[in-house]
Amino acid sequence: MEIQKVYVRHDGTTVVKCHNCGTTKTVDAAKLKKRGKPLKLRCSCQAVFQIFFEFRGAYRKKCSLDGYYTKLPVMNEWLKMRIDSISMTGVGFTTLNRDDLRKNDRLMMKIFLDDREKSKIEKRAVVKWVQGRDIGSSFVETDKYDKILGFYLMP
Ligand SMILES: [Zn+2]
Repeated sequence: MEIQKVYVRHDGTTVVKCHNCGTTKTVDAAKLKKRGKPLKLRCSCQAVFQIFFEFRGAYRKKCSLDGYYTKLPVMNEWLKMRIDSISMTGVGFTTLNRDDLRKNDRLMMKIFLDDREKSKIEKRAVVKWVQGRDIGSSFVETDKYDKILGFYLMP
């Protein structure tokens, strides 16, 4: 039986997709944290599959996405960025402007995903490191966009 590896979000839930019928459902993985072995699930289509929850580190997807960011708390200038990697916990990006970002700066981001729906997500993030124009950032909260991002990141 195939074991599906899924990544757990900030809030302890994860999205699981049935390989047989494509139905998705949200599972509360937090309660299962100590099990450390795959969980067997039965879908409403009767297909049985195994899920392994990955808590350590978030799956980071290499990408090339367009986005904009602005510094908080005053959102007066949206600057362009190119996102090189994305996960449930943050993004790595290159700013296309001469940069004035510093560690611990708080940002609002608009990220354009290249999924079928061309989803746009908005996330608050904090700058973790700066290397020239390369920036590492972490999202600061869970929000309604996490579901879209979760689908986008499904391996
Ligand atoms: Zn199913």
